[in-house]
Amino acid sequence: MYLLIRHCFYRYPAVMTVESTLLRKPRLSRKDFLAFTGKSLAVGGALVAGLPQNPVTAQTKTKAQSPPARVPADPEKPIVLEAWKSDADPKSAPTPTPRPPDKRIGYAVVGLGHLALEEVLPALAQCKQSKLAALVSGSPEKLQKVARQYGISPESCYSYETYDQLKANPDVDVIYIILPNSLHKEYVIRGARAGKHILCEKPMAISADECHEMIAACQEAQVQLMVAYRIHYQPHNRYIKEQLRKKEFGPAKYIDAYNSQSSANPDHWRHKLALAGGGSLPDIGLYCLNTTRFLVQEEPSEVFAYRYSTPGNPLFKEVEELISWQMKFPSGLIANCSSDYNVHDSRRYRVMCERGWYDLDNAYAYAGQELQTSHADGKLKRKETVVIPATNQFAVEMDYFADCILNKRRPYSTGEDGLQDHRIMEAIYQSAREGRPVKLTDNPAPKTLRGPEPELD
Ligand code: NAD
Repeated sequence: MYLLIRHCFYRYPAVMTVESTLLRKPRLSRKDFLAFTGKSLAVGGALVAGLPQNPVTAQTKTKAQSPPARVPADPEKPIVLEAWKSDADPKSAPTPTPRPPDKRIGYAVVGLGHLALEEVLPALAQCKQSKLAALVSGSPEKLQKVARQYGISPESCYSYETYDQLKANPDVDVIYIILPNSLHKEYVIRGARAGKHILCEKPMAISADECHEMIAACQEAQVQLMVAYRIHYQPHNRYIKEQLRKKEFGPAKYIDAYNSQSSANPDHWRHKLALAGGGSLPDIGLYCLNTTRFLVQEEPSEVFAYRYSTPGNPLFKEVEELISWQMKFPSGLIANCSSDYNVHDSRRYRVMCERGWYDLDNAYAYAGQELQTSHADGKLKRKETVVIPATNQFAVEMDYFADCILNKRRPYSTGEDGLQDHRIMEAIYQSAREGRPVKLTDNPAPKTLRGPEPELD
């Protein structure tokens, strides 16, 4: 009402006095206000009626009614709305098919730190198959506050001591471990023994041996184990992987990949060897390693590495600052990778193929991926920007795992895949220590490392 009056105020001076009178009468009762504005609006309406009408508005006045839509009975099939766009623009995605809240997979989020509070919990609101069902934290104040914010009842809040009681919570299907790396093993094993499926943050653990134990515990409990490799479900990375599979620019020959950021708190767990298991390599270098393996669907046969930490810098007393390594693949492809904890952030890779390249900036970031390609076209060199709609990577990843559970399907990002990364990281550290290339023998066949290809695109 107020806005309408303001509108009249600016357009029709006759009504202007109405508003100014109103505003000057602070003690006007609601009854008086309604009576007054009713009359005034009638005056305003008459004034408007006297003005020339927009002819289009006048002619197209119709009753509200839904245009034709196809509504499949199958709840998993999208509603198909009336089409109106031309082929000149990209096609819009099908309408979402969210699962009703009582049919969604329930997640217990363990550890309420940066990733949980800044990304994962907000992302659950964008999920279509998953919902937040419980919280686990060592801080009662934080737990209470977050539970209130996200509508979780006190009965579904747990401490690390009461964690095993998740077993009795029927609303929880999945336990999502978002703790410092060295705690993953214990909470994955306890979670599996509570009979819950497990989504475990990367790196999977702090050693290959730990990964073996975690895989065995999940197998024994007959629960699914997925490592949260969100890049596997990120559309730009998936697009490049598919182009490489089709050899659009011929075979891939060389990959240059780096992932760097800077830190400032030597007391943070990321700078404590016992909690992190290493420095920039397992935290962010892992993206270069795992994404390269994902893109080329091959396993490296040999690695060669250098590491460096600025002497005297307390940040790097226990863990490495910079690590740079090369990987040789059976096809002849070589990948040159690095990660650094002491430079301005930079998260990029370029895949060089015989007849072109793919360059992805912000490749491992939560958002903002920029994809460029280059190839020859007759006398021209064609450099193109490929624009792919962004998704919330955490929501897509959690919904994907929910779908695996609902359909009893092995997830794409398995514990075996996480284990393979740890084997390679151990070889990288060994190479840097010994100053020589290290061969990786007994690589598992790439197909055995992952579940079926996700149907996301
Ligand atoms: P964080 O330090 O912000 O959060 C860790 C949480 O664990 C905190 O709530 C902390 O209180 C709790 N905790 C419990 N026991 C602890 C202990 N003994 N020491 C320290 N903290 C303890 O860390 P984060 O950035 O949220 O990372 C958590 C995990 O998520 C790590 O494994 C990290 O590698 C992973 N991560 C993944 C992504 C991704 O994009 N997938 C991004 C960031 C972090």
